[in-house]
Amino acid sequence: MKRRDIIKKLTLLPVVGNALPVQSLLAAPVAGNTVPLAKPYQDRPIPALHRDAFVMDGHVHVMTRELLRNTDIGQRYTDGNVDLPRAREGGLDAMFFSVYTLDDYLPGRFETKNTFRVLQLALDQIKKNNNVIEVALNASDIERINEKGKIAAFLDLEGSFDLEGDLLILRALYTMGLRSLQLTAHNRTNAFIDACSDATVWNGINNHGRAVIKEMNDLGMVINVAHATNEAIIQVAEASRQPVAYTHGGFHAFVDIPRCITDDAAKAIAAKGGIIGIHFGSFFNNPKYEEWQRQGQPRPTTSRRASPPVFDEHPDEQTNTITKIDKLLAPTTPLNFKGTIPDDIWMHASQLAKVIDYGVNLVGEDHIALGSDFDGGPELPREIRDMRDYPQITIELQKLEYSEQRIRKILGLNWLRLIREVTNG
Ligand SMILES: [Zn+2]
Repeated sequence: MKRRDIIKKLTLLPVVGNALPVQSLLAAPVAGNTVPLAKPYQDRPIPALHRDAFVMDGHVHVMTRELLRNTDIGQRYTDGNVDLPRAREGGLDAMFFSVYTLDDYLPGRFETKNTFRVLQLALDQIKKNNNVIEVALNASDIERINEKGKIAAFLDLEGSFDLEGDLLILRALYTMGLRSLQLTAHNRTNAFIDACSDATVWNGINNHGRAVIKEMNDLGMVINVAHATNEAIIQVAEASRQPVAYTHGGFHAFVDIPRCITDDAAKAIAAKGGIIGIHFGSFFNNPKYEEWQRQGQPRPTTSRRASPPVFDEHPDEQTNTITKIDKLLAPTTPLNFKGTIPDDIWMHASQLAKVIDYGVNLVGEDHIALGSDFDGGPELPREIRDMRDYPQITIELQKLEYSEQRIRKILGLNWLRLIREVTNG
């Protein structure tokens, strides 16, 4: 057995005694007061395959809480979805370590400053927790880091690097270690690509968008098309010399919202060797939930956040100072879903497996992977409290009688393959 596997086996041993502290159940988004306290879903034994498999998540939100509340990702918290102790318990080997520039920073044009500070903070916190996690610049790095029994952080940016798409800024971010970047400004259309939750300005991408894509191809950076319009996704897949990643989202075929991908766009991604990371949230995967939301239930925002952008509530603050925006945002962190869901609408992890299965049938098992959006606001399935519960997905995929190899691809090998192709290493 490889060293990584031994360490992984140890970290995945069931915790003795109170495996599921009552406190953590109460901190979870409890819905309908029907959480089965006596026998939680999480008591299902962790499959040996999960212990052994390479597990990689395509979208995990980090550093917003750390920046705004001065916390440490190496510490265990009772709220939110993400920290390193819980990541290890869930058997995670690598993740798109997604630093995030919230839309709130865009009106005052603080987006580039925020991006640099969260990226530097990520480097600082990874260094501080060097016994658990290291930065990976390519696929070989991920394997090398895993061999040491550590988690690999593949640095990714959500929320754009610069609204104008300055290529020098892009190169500066690459120099710092960023290897994946979302083209849209999160939910906002920018100077070169249309976002799916905002105005269509370019009918996809414009020539500058093509220049950004070429630069990313030349550098060997993963192009993330999540939050783009379907037209833009198809155009990016065509323009890119390398496979592109739709790191987190659902399928239009299940839920008809802009943040879900059409079959045509999904096929365009797969045709170029790209990957669709399946989001864990009900809003993306459970038609019943989406319908319930449409019937007037309070919906946070299309940004999938726990609260609306602060500039909506505080228009005077939007061009003021970044410190004021920080102060307004801090209480909303961690950005996990905090609402309640009626019992009959709260989805199971089996629904997530059903969506994965749809994707496999549509584009093939080489092009579907995980993209949880942990701490980005997903209304998690009943069986999934936070990062500890990745094994629940393996359990559901086994119920579909998927082959071991297929499950391994979906759990992480597909992301590893894409990163190897794009980074050439
Ligand atoms: Zn997102």
